[in-house]
Amino acid sequence: MTDACIFCRIVHGTIPATLVASNAHGIAFRDVNPQAPSHVLIIPRRHVRSLAEATDGAELGALLLLAAEVARVEGLDASGYRVVANTGMDGGQTVHHLHFHLLGGRSMQWPPG
Ligand code: AMP
Repeated sequence: MTDACIFCRIVHGTIPATLVASNAHGIAFRDVNPQAPSHVLIIPRRHVRSLAEATDGAELGALLLLAAEVARVEGLDASGYRVVANTGMDGGQTVHHLHFHLLGGRSMQWPPG
């Protein structure tokens, strides 16, 4: 936990978020600025700066399974969805606590911007 990290503060409940699901390794909550009808962030409970600094495969696996669970909860299984981890400057990462975006409820474009 770092006090300066907004996602750590969400994990610890000191700032509000709309929780969708959780497991031992992570929590999932709605993005405050949704880019699709369903836009959920999946983050580790521990402070990990980005995918580039992730080392725990069990933790990463649990986060991806949590993303799949969120997709089921959101009813996106049949229509499909996208999972994205913006990483570092060129990746467009703005919050430096590892997170997966789960986006669904509309058709996605490729390549991404
Ligand atoms: P990224 O640009 O990939 O680092 O994504 C950061 C995401 O966090 C953005 O989509 C923001 O809208 C979202 N975000 C920032 N602060 C909050 C918050 N307090 N609650 C929910 N989502 C947030």
